[in-house]
Amino acid sequence: METGEDCCVKVAVHVRPLIADEKLQGCKDCVTVVAGKPQVQIGARSYTFDHVYGSTGSPSCNMFEECVAPLVDGLFQGYNATVLAYGQTGSGKTYTMGTGFKEGFQAGIIPQVMNVLFNKIGTLKDQIEFQLHVSFIEILKEEVRDLLDSSSMGKPETANGHAGKMASPGKPPIQIRETSNGVITLAGSTEVGVTTLKEMAACLEQGSLSRATGSTNMNNQSSRSHAIFTITLEQMHKPKNPNDSCLNDTMDDEYLCAKLHLVDLAGSERAKRTGSDGVHINKGLLALGNVISALGDEKKRKEGVHVPYRDSKLTRLLQDSLGGNSRTVMIACISPADINAEETLNTLKYANRAR
Ligand code: ADP
Ligand code: MG
Repeated sequence: METGEDCCVKVAVHVRPLIADEKLQGCKDCVTVVAGKPQVQIGARSYTFDHVYGSTGSPSCNMFEECVAPLVDGLFQGYNATVLAYGQTGSGKTYTMGTGFKEGFQAGIIPQVMNVLFNKIGTLKDQIEFQLHVSFIEILKEEVRDLLDSSSMGKPETANGHAGKMASPGKPPIQIRETSNGVITLAGSTEVGVTTLKEMAACLEQGSLSRATGSTNMNNQSSRSHAIFTITLEQMHKPKNPNDSCLNDTMDDEYLCAKLHLVDLAGSERAKRTGSDGVHINKGLLALGNVISALGDEKKRKEGVHVPYRDSKLTRLLQDSLGGNSRTVMIACISPADINAEETLNTLKYANRAR
């Protein structure tokens, strides 16, 4: 199989504008997007990526078209894909991915993916039968939690605010498994079959709510966990002639299955902190950095260098959708405020390593 046509990992930077809170604190903008180049400058340093989006330079309205739409097209050809939003807490990961439904439904990558997906299905549905499934999980402290588990929905909140979040008693924990042909599955997680945009949007909304309300300290919890919204697309070509329907021997070629992971990563500022929680977050982001850097290194790839997928739940779960024939886009989110300069530099370095 061809793998290295062009690099399988693309890296984009999304610079958000100064937010009201930063302006109130008198923060200055210390990040420059170089006009006409995919380059960011901070202080005396400059970094070049595949794409850079900001309020100046290239506007972020091109981001979906340039970075994500090709991955959605790839889904229809059977290629798995992953979109990752990386950055410190408050840098715009959730805004960029559209994982927090409160942000306004049309903004954000996930709602746009849904639109494009259903438009495309609409134009192809005469020839192809489609099946769509959605799962939405989060990984917190190396534990997988189901954000769509309806059996725990609607339960009254406990005094400390836990609702729809704790595993139901007796329900086995979700396990990441690999089939004999290398397909990664999430045993025990809820897979919701959807047929309309509305149904898929409802899954996003339900999971986002479950993520936000599951903890006494919302900010803390969601900034420490990786949220992964996964769309699985199955396609079966319809027989042209109704009489062909009993000829099954060609059916295998006519079936395609691919998935798209849309990942709102944990806040990167935890990666370097110690402490019992930090260690686990560290694990996912650290492993992800190592995996992506191994994939991005063409020389290493050709030599068949070991890619350390098994070092964390996050990379293990994404294993069949990172590298190989799959397509990956990492969007590094940064704040332009001078008070965040140090974290911004860390993010740019991490993202730079991924190229
Ligand atoms: P994170 O998920 O990385 O912690 P958020 O997505 O919650 O960050 O963004 C932090 C704040 O910045 C929110 O108030 C959000 O609305 C705002 N914000 C983020 N990105 C943008 C953007 N591109 N344009 C305008 N506001 C933004
Ligand atoms: Mg967030």
